Amino acid sequence: MKVLGIETSCDETAAAIVDGDHTILANKVLTQLEEHKPYGGVVPEIAARSHMDHLDRLIREALDDAKIGFDDLDGIAATAGPGLIGGVFVGVMTAKAIAASRKLPFLAVNHLEGHALTARLTEGAAAEFPYLLLLVSGGHCQLLAVEDVGCYTRLGGTIDDAVGEAFDKTAKMMGLPYPGGPLIEQIAKQGNEDRFDLPRPLKGRSGCDFSFSGLKTAVRKKIIEIIGEGGNPDHMSALDKADLAASFQKAVGDVLIDRCKRAMDMFEEKFGRPGPLVVAGGVAANLTLRAKLKELTDTRGTKLLAPPVNLCTDNGVMIAWAGLERLRLGLTDSLDFAPRPRWPLDQLTGVKDLHK
Ligand code: ATP
Ligand code: MG
Ligand code: FE
Repeated sequence: MKVLGIETSCDETAAAIVDGDHTILANKVLTQLEEHKPYGGVVPEIAARSHMDHLDRLIREALDDAKIGFDDLDGIAATAGPGLIGGVFVGVMTAKAIAASRKLPFLAVNHLEGHALTARLTEGAAAEFPYLLLLVSGGHCQLLAVEDVGCYTRLGGTIDDAVGEAFDKTAKMMGLPYPGGPLIEQIAKQGNEDRFDLPRPLKGRSGCDFSFSGLKTAVRKKIIEIIGEGGNPDHMSALDKADLAASFQKAVGDVLIDRCKRAMDMFEEKFGRPGPLVVAGGVAANLTLRAKLKELTDTRGTKLLAPPVNLCTDNGVMIAWAGLERLRLGLTDSLDFAPRPRWPLDQLTGVKDLHK
């Protein structure tokens, strides 16, 4: 079974083809980073136009890489939300057009479910349901129990910023370009993670919610101490930047570990085991954070399952795979499915709806 997956919800235009035997037949990702750089963030209008300019070509290249034609496909999947709605429309309309003209099933994939199910493609049997999911990306920071395709129970989430957003904002304050996550990780390697005393918001509290805005404010104060109010971040020394990046990353790691511990307790209460723990979303590309999570799962006698770094940040493979999992179950969507700018994971159709 082969499915084409289209991703256009943010600033990556992506098309990929996966097979039901867990092979990735094609994986095309075009990042718009350079187009948005002058604006210091993603501009929705520019993103949508750029998806329109490049998507058809990427789909053609994906088919060429897989050495197949449209008629060899069994389904067409596209991110139908959540995300920047102009871009989502481009992907969904393209997918619907192919599905209609080739008489193929259409799959409206939730972008977060794409992140959530990637480990089932890459880790195989180890990622059997149920598992605990730490979803950490640019727009989301949640802990969920994943019981089946489309069946998610939210255990906790951020009450303010997403963790990727905290990385990006911290980087911006230090004068680093967007997206800041990978740069913070890189410069933190040369830094002293114990130099700056930063808060660990909500650490030790019951439940497993997150908060990052206090951490961000604390970072801003440290920067002001170094360069003065309204000062130019370029006047920070490389050492200051490295130490601050490392201290920030350590604080984030401590918070994530503390919250995951709580979530493991909640998961164990429900399912009789604390994991496995799947980490997904762009921030899961951070190897320092992964190593900390690995220590935690080792201590708890369970497994950490993390997809390869290039499948943690946005890509078409995750959409193709989620589409394939849905297609296998008969969870196809109608061609009048309307794209959704907001679409929480606990509001999906899933296996539970098949038995109704
Ligand atoms: P969402 O999936 O919530 O809709 P998104 O699609 O924009 O958001 P992703 O592509 O999943 O986000 O992740 C991008 C985020 O991941 C950015 O905030 C980026 O800084 C962060 N990120 C990427 N690599 C790293 C890294 N190595 N360390 C920390 N953060 C990282
Ligand atoms: Mg992106
Ligand atoms: Fe994403």
